[in-house]
Amino acid sequence: MSEVHFARAALIGIGLVGSSLAHVLRRDKLADHIVACARRPETLAAVERLGLADTVTRDPAEAVKDADLVVIGTPLSAYAEIGRRVGPALAPGAILTDVGSVKGAAIRDLAPSLPPGVHLVPGHPVAGTEHSGPEAGFAEMFRDRWCILTPLPEGDAPALDKVTRLWQAAGMKVVTMDPEHHDMVLAITSHLPHLIAYTIVGTATDLEDTLKSEVIKFSAGGFRDFTRIAASDPVMWRDVFLNNREAVLEMLQRFTEDLTALQRAIRWGEGDKLEDLFTRTRAIRRSIIEAKQA
Ligand code: NAP
Repeated sequence: MSEVHFARAALIGIGLVGSSLAHVLRRDKLADHIVACARRPETLAAVERLGLADTVTRDPAEAVKDADLVVIGTPLSAYAEIGRRVGPALAPGAILTDVGSVKGAAIRDLAPSLPPGVHLVPGHPVAGTEHSGPEAGFAEMFRDRWCILTPLPEGDAPALDKVTRLWQAAGMKVVTMDPEHHDMVLAITSHLPHLIAYTIVGTATDLEDTLKSEVIKFSAGGFRDFTRIAASDPVMWRDVFLNNREAVLEMLQRFTEDLTALQRAIRWGEGDKLEDLFTRTRAIRRSIIEAKQA
């Protein structure tokens, strides 16, 4: 892997993902100057305390001035407004990338605001935890995970190459994909599992008080794993579902049909059907472990 280096990296949104990237930039000295942008003074104070940036600002336009790398790491609902604000301030030749979990929407909201000569390289490092904010970040979060880039057909090849090397420096394996394909794949591997976790934890929460305390007491039976996923950031996940609507609804339809089939199998005592499915799913788990993605 060859070195990648930036003179001035602007991180617009510096929560879990942005701060993890800042740790990597710092650790490997990949940028001469890091500027961080967020809305709340508390967030910027934390960034300063952690030494994650050389300068901080609440103004995205000021942040991107003279930057050769801009990374958007906010919830998706902020993209269009950020695009409008940074567009006129971007330096010619700058690379603008992002880390958002839905790529069609990211391109829809960013591309129209970018002046000619600014290179958009949409990206999604598929790595994270259920925690948020700059304190939650750590450089190793990206190690051995996949980063999906969804370059535009007319996109700039050297810019794509630089963003690829940036994520490789963070320890990621990088692939490129069509944005639509990305959104479909993530709908089943990430978005639907989160929706199921939010639902099951919500269902348990709605149960009567006595049952609720038993749910917590005996959570190690499986519920606990759902609560971890369902503790993920509410704003980020609201935005994921609203911005990947079609793909999530498609996967949800299939899931509902499969759930109904299981319901029938239980009702009619068709143990072979249950056992057959559970055997197949166990094999998937084994392949995830073998692929070192467990
Ligand atoms: P996070 O920890 O909640 O941080 C969000 C950051 O965005 C905060 O610094 C926040 O600043 C800032 N922000 C919000 N609205 C803003 C605005 N209008 N202008 C400027 N800054 C703004 O979020 P995250 O988990 O890092 O996720 C960020 C993005 O990465 C999302 O698009 C998400 O889809 C994607 N992603 C998340 C994960 C994950 O596991 N969490 C994994 C891969 C990709 P304030 O504190 O000042 O509001």
